[in-house]
Amino acid sequence: MRVFNFAAGPATLPLAVLEQVREELTDWRGSGMSVMEISHRSKPFLALAGEAEADLRELLGVPAQYKVLFLQGGAAGQFAAVPLNLARADSTVDYVNTGSWSKKAIGEAKHYCRVNLAADAAASNYTTVPPESEWRLTAGAAYLHYTPNETIGGVEFPFIPRVDVPLVADMSSTILSRPLDVSRFGLIYAGAQKNIGPAGLVVVIVREELIGRSRTETPLVWNYAGMAAEGSMSNTPPTLAWYIAGLVFKWVKREGGLAAMAECNRAKSQLLYRTIDESGFYRNPVDVACRSWMNVPFVLANPELDKTFLSEAQAAGLTNLAGHRSVGGMRASIYNAMPLEGVQALVQFMREFARRHG
Ligand SMILES: *Cc1c(COP(=O)(O)O)cnc(C)c1O
Repeated sequence: MRVFNFAAGPATLPLAVLEQVREELTDWRGSGMSVMEISHRSKPFLALAGEAEADLRELLGVPAQYKVLFLQGGAAGQFAAVPLNLARADSTVDYVNTGSWSKKAIGEAKHYCRVNLAADAAASNYTTVPPESEWRLTAGAAYLHYTPNETIGGVEFPFIPRVDVPLVADMSSTILSRPLDVSRFGLIYAGAQKNIGPAGLVVVIVREELIGRSRTETPLVWNYAGMAAEGSMSNTPPTLAWYIAGLVFKWVKREGGLAAMAECNRAKSQLLYRTIDESGFYRNPVDVACRSWMNVPFVLANPELDKTFLSEAQAAGLTNLAGHRSVGGMRASIYNAMPLEGVQALVQFMREFARRHG
């Protein structure tokens, strides 16, 4: 039996996609082989790769002057690849720190250039986004980097920053959750294992004019210019992950695209936040204006009940609700592939649990 899996990543995938993978696992498109067993340079695989890119471009409305790359090394690899490709050793880069993933990106960028902390949400204990009017920007920075959705803290930007330098966004846990104006960005990257597909793939969407400035020591596998010239195949790509990502893009299209995703994600998150706020038993610490649609952390009034909550939830078919190991408490990740019924089952369980233990 399938459970409702609230894991933050790797995360639940659409059942229809998993069933299609199973269906064609040993004989992909009449080849007599699985998609894992064919050359990435074969015609059928190149067609698959091109189709996945075209579908992603269509979903996000990616303008023609952007390259879409399918790379490895996860979002964490991009923490290094971004400064290596976009900044010189003597460049200053601006970063906004809104929590755990921002912090990791900043730590890595510091190895490659001068980092200016343009804003830091420390004063709020990372429960909000510092207002843009207070940011300390560097004139002529190589770029400004931010994390639109902090997967651990559940803090999401309610706006796209307006800056004069290329805007770089780690969209790992929010890409495809709603329509997006890609033209506002210089570069977007997203690890796949939240809203795109299985782990092993990271998607980079980059404005062409930012390509070609990489430092000579940039690894081949993260060199945007080289990868763009070679169709993301300077080396062997993660073929299975790319194939499944392609199936997920088709699933999103069938479901009605990003507008439909947004409608469903808004409904799911509102239902969950309302249940938390009205309970007097659960609590979410995040500034209401900055609450994430994708990752909903919450704590119980009595933390001694955490273990009971998790084991009873598990028994009810609601899994992976423990908060990140760095913060504890609970977290429900409700990406595109989590159906509304999953959140309905969760809130019903939460109300029932509060009634019995409150
Ligand atoms: C999951 C996540 C990462 C890390 O991704 P990896 O694929 O493990 O490198 C980075 N940033 C954000 C916002 C994430 O959600």
